[in-house]
Amino acid sequence: MNEEVASYTCASCGEQIVVPVDLSAGSEKEYVEACPICSHPNVIHVEVDNHGEPRLWVTGD
Ligand SMILES: [Zn+2]
Repeated sequence: MNEEVASYTCASCGEQIVVPVDLSAGSEKEYVEACPICSHPNVIHVEVDNHGEPRLWVTGD
């Protein structure tokens, strides 16, 4: 088990949201998470680089 935290910027309210990333789930995934500030459903893309550092970004809806 290997868990890191990373952050993304909400597409609706612009808040920076910090979320835990479960690196054992694979190097690339996409999921929807409701913003804890404004409840906007963000489509979050996760990618883990060769050094095991996760990167998160929000894709358009
Ligand atoms: Zn938001």
